[in-house]
Amino acid sequence: MYPVRKPVLTCKFHAKGPQWMSGYHQGYDFGGRVGTPVYAMADGVVIGINIWGSAFGRYSPVIKHGKVYPKYVIYGHVRKCFVKPGDKVKRGDKIAEIGVEGNSGGPHVHVEGQRTKWWTPTGGTRLEHLFKA
Ligand SMILES: [Zn+2]
Repeated sequence: MYPVRKPVLTCKFHAKGPQWMSGYHQGYDFGGRVGTPVYAMADGVVIGINIWGSAFGRYSPVIKHGKVYPKYVIYGHVRKCFVKPGDKVKRGDKIAEIGVEGNSGGPHVHVEGQRTKWWTPTGGTRLEHLFKA
């Protein structure tokens, strides 16, 4: 499922731009008002909060989404986080709220998948399988 109820994609995967270290957007941005609920896209375990750098904002959880989808996903720029490291989450759990934390030009949630627990500037992976599952 998508991370917000009415998804409006405001920046697509691999959009070009100088603001990204790799030159390409590594995730997907969904716009919405500040305070809009953000949901876990699949079952998973919270690996950490604010572990991929301050650009994503200090409340951003990184969740490992299950065995079928061994992807580490950050929910970035959120203003509140309702989970903590070690928590198990279910698909559809409210985990955060859209905010403008970190390097963010406006309120949105940035979801980005990486193959490993640790972020790399070119490591962003496609997430359509999670949106559609
Ligand atoms: Zn983004």
